[in-house]
Amino acid sequence: MLDLIPAHAEPPTVKISSRGAKRLKDGHVWVYRSDAVSAESVAPGALVRVSDERGRFLGTALYSSASQIAVRMISREAVEDFDQLLRARLREAAAYREKVVSDSNAYRVAFGEGDLLPGLIVDRYNDLLSLQILTQAIDADPVRSAVLSEISALFEPSGIVERVDARVRELEKLPPRSSGLLQGQKSSTVFTMNGVQFEFDALAGQKTGAFLDQRENYAAAARYAYGEALDVFCYHGGFALHLAPKCSHVTGVDSSRPALEVADQNSALNHREVEWIEANAFDLLRDYADAGKKYDTIVLDPPAFAKTKSSLPTALRGYKELNLRALKMLRPGGVLVTCSCSYHVGAAEFLGVVAEAARDARRSLRILESRTQAKDHPILLNVPETAYLKCLILTVSS
Ligand code: SAH
Repeated sequence: MLDLIPAHAEPPTVKISSRGAKRLKDGHVWVYRSDAVSAESVAPGALVRVSDERGRFLGTALYSSASQIAVRMISREAVEDFDQLLRARLREAAAYREKVVSDSNAYRVAFGEGDLLPGLIVDRYNDLLSLQILTQAIDADPVRSAVLSEISALFEPSGIVERVDARVRELEKLPPRSSGLLQGQKSSTVFTMNGVQFEFDALAGQKTGAFLDQRENYAAAARYAYGEALDVFCYHGGFALHLAPKCSHVTGVDSSRPALEVADQNSALNHREVEWIEANAFDLLRDYADAGKKYDTIVLDPPAFAKTKSSLPTALRGYKELNLRALKMLRPGGVLVTCSCSYHVGAAEFLGVVAEAARDARRSLRILESRTQAKDHPILLNVPETAYLKCLILTVSS
């Protein structure tokens, strides 16, 4: 189905509506299916020329026959050789990380659109690489081979693992595939960020290896944390382990037992004492707040509550409730680190929810830092979907 496009063949053209063309002129890189006016005979995953309705050339893109996002731009120019472009982009992405990542051998090497590599995610965990393929174009065999050969040459990893998102493959009408090793023998390792070590097992049942996007926020939170700390939605202990040296006692809470087992291994690995509690965060916060428990530092890093636009009102209520409960438990002078990874909740909206929670809790809050995702998850201006993580660090002044 997904044949190799001969390097010098003329790619097919997808014509797009004036609304689609305007979107591209405004700097976005996606064209929705409803704006693709002529694409009937284009093969799934093909490299295409994009033109407006009058035939004016707008750039080169990757086409999907299934996704609502029919066209993902890769260049404003004609692309003669996609293999070469892909390899060059991967080299650029790796070189960019050399500049912006410090104190870590784990980071995102390629972040889809943020690296002008739509459909491709590559993470590095020390000597292992983990790959996620999200589109028909990147799933094509020759493209997979080019990605593998380039990242092998760049990092000389001991193993490359593919992490499959079954739902994405279904939406892209790609045949099912299982996660597994693509290259090498090794699928688990230990990585280090900000001087903290973490176990990583690429083939364990967990959906995600680690939340690399919080790397800079872990270090920032640790700069302000003190006293008794509570890390809510702690997963493998990213925040808790960073806070431990600064705090007299740290408790991590998560509803997933397998996640807490890894968290416990991580605390042993780092000789950092953390108390891990398996609980539903909403119930635990309510019980603790009712019991009059107090903390000096609280971290809230829940999963994305708003996965779609329609779930926004429910999501906002969830964020408000969590923040309200946490604020009631903070001692004067205490620190709240509160995050949202829902793209559909904008930065201003999230700040608004926290402000409402502060008002209802009758607390005065100061913003210490208003932060976002780590720089290895680059935010592309004019492509708002590349910016998703909010992390506010606040202090309670009374
Ligand atoms: N702070 C973590 C990432 C959190 S991801 C880090 O930096 O690594 C969200 C976590 O919330 C997951 O580990 C998931 O198991 C947990 N979770 C989801 N719903 C929950 C709930 N209702 N109560 C407690 N934990 C929950």
